[in-house]
Amino acid sequence: MTLDLTPNDISAVIAADKAHVWHHLLQHKALETADPRIIVEGKGIHVWDAAGRKFLDAVSGGVWTVNVGYGRESIANAVRDQLIRMNYFAQSAGSIPGSLFAERLIEKMPGLTRVYYSNSGSEANEKVFKMVRQISARHHGGRKSKILYRERDYHGTTIAALASAGQPERAALYGPFPDGFVQVPHCLEYRKQWDVENYGERAADAIEEVILREGPDTVGLLCLEPVTAGGGVIVPPKGYWERVQEICKKYDILLHIDEVVCGMGRTGAWFGYQQFGVKPDFVTMAKGVASGYAAISCTVTTEEVFNLFKDDPTDPLSYFRDISTFGGCAGGPAAALENMRIIEDENLLANTTAMGERLTANLRELAERHKVIGDVRGLGLFQGAELVADRTTKEPVAEALAQRVVAEAGARGVIIGVTNRSIPGLNNTLCLSPALIATPQDIDTITAAIDGALTAVFG
Ligand code: PMP
Repeated sequence: MTLDLTPNDISAVIAADKAHVWHHLLQHKALETADPRIIVEGKGIHVWDAAGRKFLDAVSGGVWTVNVGYGRESIANAVRDQLIRMNYFAQSAGSIPGSLFAERLIEKMPGLTRVYYSNSGSEANEKVFKMVRQISARHHGGRKSKILYRERDYHGTTIAALASAGQPERAALYGPFPDGFVQVPHCLEYRKQWDVENYGERAADAIEEVILREGPDTVGLLCLEPVTAGGGVIVPPKGYWERVQEICKKYDILLHIDEVVCGMGRTGAWFGYQQFGVKPDFVTMAKGVASGYAAISCTVTTEEVFNLFKDDPTDPLSYFRDISTFGGCAGGPAAALENMRIIEDENLLANTTAMGERLTANLRELAERHKVIGDVRGLGLFQGAELVADRTTKEPVAEALAQRVVAEAGARGVIIGVTNRSIPGLNNTLCLSPALIATPQDIDTITAAIDGALTAVFG
C-alpha cells in the first residue's frame, strides 16, 4: 500500500463526505453516529480504507464488478493513451477501441453480431426494451410488445428497468410504471413451489403458463439473468434452460439474457448463458466488461434483429432513434479490450472454475458445522450461502443477524455481501464473488472469516 494521506487529510475527506455525499443503498441515519467507510486504495484482491485497514474484498468492489482485480496499470495506461489520442466523439461515428472491442467480443459470442454501447447495466437493458417495442410497432402492428421478467431477478435502477424488477422492495415506492411488464415465477428449487422431480422443466413450464394467460401474440421478450444475482444467487435447475429455449421458439419470443453480473468470466465461462447452451437474441453486460476501470455497457444482438432496424431508409422512424451520450467515450472500450486480454492471458476462466469449486466445497464444509446455512449454491466465483433460522421450515434469519455476519466478517478483514434482506419470504444469502484472480489461499481466508463470523453471531 502507498497510502500517503495524513490524519488531517483523512479527517477532511470524512467531513466532506458526511456533509455532502448521499451514498447509494444506505440508511444515512447510521452515519450520524459513525463514519462512512472510505476506500482509498486497492491492489489485486485487497483494498484499504482511510484508517489504513486492509481487507480481502470478496465481492469485487461490492457489486461483482472488479473482475480482474485492483491496481491494473496496463488498463490505466490503455485508457490514458486512448484519452490523450481521442477521448470522445458521439457514437453515431465510430472509435478505434469501440470497433476493435466489438470484434473481440463477438468472437466470444457465436450467433451474435452487433454491439450497441452505453454506460450502465440499466441502460443496456432499457435499450433491449426499446428495441423490442420498436420491433413490435414496426413489424408486428403493435402486437408482441409485452416484456416478461422473472421473480427475484433485477435489471436496473431506472423506472422502466424497475418495471422489470422481480424484487418488490426495489420497486415498491417508485410507481406508476410503464405498462406491459409481466412477471413469471422464480426457479429456486430450495424454496420449492412445485413438488415434482424435474423441477427445472416445471419452473420453465410456469413461464409458458404466463405466456398462454397473456396471449402469445402479445409477448415479445423474455428477460432473464443466467444466474440470479441480487435476488439470492440462484442457478436455474437442470432442464430449465432447454425448456426456456423451446418455449421462446414455440411462441416466437425473443430471449434476452442479462449478463450484467455474470458476463466476462464471473461463472467460469465468458458468459453465464454459455454454461447452459442457450442461444439468446439479446445479451446485455456491464460490470465486468471493464472491471470498473471505466463505465461501459453493451447490448449485443443478432444480425436478424439488427436488420429489422433498416427496413425502410426513406422512413424517419425505421431506424433505432436512440443515443447514449457517454456511449461514445472511447476510454470504455479501451479499458474493455485490455480487461479481456488479461482474462485470456492469465487464464482467469479456468482459475474461476477451479476456485469456484474450492469455494463451494469450503462452504459445504461450513454448512456441516453451522446449521444456520440452509443452502449453498452458485457457479464459478459467484457463490451464495442462504441463512435460515430453521432448516426444516427454512424461515429466513432476521435481517439484523445477517447484517451482523457481514460486519463480523469485516472485523476479520474480509468484505462479504448479503442479498435481499428484510422482505418476508425472501432470503438472507451471503454473497461471495471475489475477483477472478483469487488464489486457493484467498478462498480459504474468505471461508475462515465466514466461519468466525457465523460462530460470533450464532455460536
Ligand atoms: N442487471 C443486473 C443483473 C444487475 O445486478 C444490475 C446491477 N446490480 C443491473 C442490471 C443494473 O446495472 P447498473 O447498476 O449498472 O445500471
